[in-house]
Amino acid sequence: MITNRTFTMIKPDGVENGHIGGILEKITSAGFKIVAMKYTQLSKRDAEAFYAVHSERPFFGELVEFMTRGPIVAAILEKDNAVEDFRALIGATNPAEAAEGTIRKLYATSIGENAVHGSDSDENAAIEGAFHFSGREIF
Ligand code: ADP
Ligand code: MG
Repeated sequence: MITNRTFTMIKPDGVENGHIGGILEKITSAGFKIVAMKYTQLSKRDAEAFYAVHSERPFFGELVEFMTRGPIVAAILEKDNAVEDFRALIGATNPAEAAEGTIRKLYATSIGENAVHGSDSDENAAIEGAFHFSGREIF
C-alpha cells in the first residue's frame, strides 16, 4: 500500500464561500503535492457510500444533504506522513476547537460545514482516493 498519500475534498461550503484558492494555497505551501484533482458533485448515493461509516450517527442525513448540495474539489495529495500531517493542517472537526492557522480555523463555519475532508488512515486514504479517481487520473 502507498502510505505517503492522503485524500481530501474541499466541501460545498468551502467552494460556495470562495475558498478554493485559499485552501489550495495552504495545502501546497505546507508541502503537499497534488497528484490527482477534479471539480465534481456528489450524488446522494455517492455521499451515502463515502460516509457509510457514519450511517448510524444522528447527523448522517444532514451530512449527506450538505455534501451533495453543490460542487466539491476532490484531490489526492502526496507528502511524507501525508495522512497525519494533513489532519494537523486541517485542524479539529469543530472549527471552534481547531488550532490557529489550520484550514478549518480559517475557513470552516460549523462542525458540519467544516470546509475540508481529510482521510483518517492510510487504508482509508487509499479507499477514498480510489472512490474518486481511476489509475489514469493519478499522476
Ligand atoms: P472529520 O471530518 O474531522 O474526520 P468525522 O469523521 O467525525 O470528522 O465526521 C465526518 C464529517 O461529518 C465531519 O467532517 C462533518 O462534516 C460531519 N459531522 C461530524 N460531526 C458532526 C456533528 N456533530 N453535527 C453535524 N455534522 C457533523
Ligand atoms: Mg473522519
